[in-house]
Amino acid sequence: MSEEAEAKKVKVEMLDHHEVKCGDCDKTLVMMLKIAESEEKQRLLVNCPFCGGQSWLFEMSGKYFQAPAEGLGLSKMDENNGTFILDMEITE
Ligand SMILES: [Zn+2]
Repeated sequence: MSEEAEAKKVKVEMLDHHEVKCGDCDKTLVMMLKIAESEEKQRLLVNCPFCGGQSWLFEMSGKYFQAPAEGLGLSKMDENNGTFILDMEITE
């Protein structure tokens, strides 16, 4: 691996990441990984497939990569007034 690639890898590991959890049953639904700083603001709500509840409103500034928690997949994504609403499904 080149030095440049090493540096890039370290940078990725240092980036912010957040778990978006269900507000009702506290299960982790989505991992948000910050990939870039940006002025852009986004809001996210995640519907919980375990209890039918919903996550707390997650507000982000910057660009994020979203990954479903283990055993979950994204079934649907809607946007409402700048808030993304994700429906998750259990895949295992
Ligand atoms: Zn839940």
